[in-house]
Amino acid sequence: MIDPFGRSISYIRVSVTDRCDFRCVYCMAEDMTFLPKSDLLTLEELDRLCGAFVRKGVRKIRLTGGEPLVRRNLMSLVRNLSRHLHTGALEELTLTTNGSQLAKYAGELAAAGVKRINVSVDTLDPVKFEAITRGGKLPTVKEGLAAAKAAGLAIKINTVALKGVNDGEFDALLEWCGREGLDMTLIETMPMGEVDHHRADRYLSLAEARRTLAKSWTLEDIAHRTGGPARYTLVKETGRKLGFITPLSHNFCESCNRVRVTCTGMLYMCLGQDDSADLRAPLRATESDELLDAAIEAAIRRKPKGHDFVIERAAPAVQRHMSVTGG
Ligand code: SAM
Ligand code: SF4
Repeated sequence: MIDPFGRSISYIRVSVTDRCDFRCVYCMAEDMTFLPKSDLLTLEELDRLCGAFVRKGVRKIRLTGGEPLVRRNLMSLVRNLSRHLHTGALEELTLTTNGSQLAKYAGELAAAGVKRINVSVDTLDPVKFEAITRGGKLPTVKEGLAAAKAAGLAIKINTVALKGVNDGEFDALLEWCGREGLDMTLIETMPMGEVDHHRADRYLSLAEARRTLAKSWTLEDIAHRTGGPARYTLVKETGRKLGFITPLSHNFCESCNRVRVTCTGMLYMCLGQDDSADLRAPLRATESDELLDAAIEAAIRRKPKGHDFVIERAAPAVQRHMSVTGG
């Protein structure tokens, strides 16, 4: 699939649920209303949809949410999708998780061919962790991380940089990642969906974070790319990677290789734009995939050049929360 700007689309992120057992302050409002379960694609529909993208050349699938591991029977979808790994059509099947259920599922994920996962950890202080996630337990996430390591999964920690909240902890997080053998990515907070504060108050430019980190660590730029807005460095002292996701202070839309599907089957061609295509209707219209394929092709032809995030605006750039489109 080649979009109008010559970018090859080889990566889909699929949100399997908008629900979550956490309520991170930058991601959700405290009293979120979730979608009725009947609106969600079934696991069979998600499998069919992923299959259509794989046929069209997608090489990497990331399952996300909401919290993917709270979707009932998710492991059956993971096991089914792993058939594309066995045929070689798919290079990678992975997921982004808050880690709360990882102790239970790490072994099954590894057995199904998942090799790497992203786990979100914004602080190593259990009290602050509970405050940021509105109720999450850091020790449970750490047990999950230990189980994932024991199962042989490579782990990347995602940390959203929040001014006045965790900006004093980046050294400690980096040191912990080094000790535990984890890569890490710092993420700028993005204006998606209404939350209970104005995001500009918490926004921290990662250029600034990098300057501070460079006082204590030797950060060497490396060529590693995933086609997204992350740029990676090698931390010489630990030998681990540190990435910076900076959609606001820089954007790297020109090399974007991805699209996103929500749990209701809406295809978003850009995380930071509202245009979308309904894939649920063609999925449900017939058992053959002709309409689905045509809808995907038409949507890719409309993939926009880039996003429209500006943190200072009073209103979010897009109305939907990250948990709907999937981070
Ligand atoms: N629940 C899983 C988790 O937290 O890893 C997967 C979904 S979550 C939406 C995916 C990633 O998006 C997480 O790393 C989270 O920190 C990040 N995220 C959520 N809302 C964000 C926002 N407004 N700006 C930047 N990152 C955000
Ligand atoms: Fe849930 Fe992930 Fe959003 Fe936190 S960032 S509320 S864990 S979906």
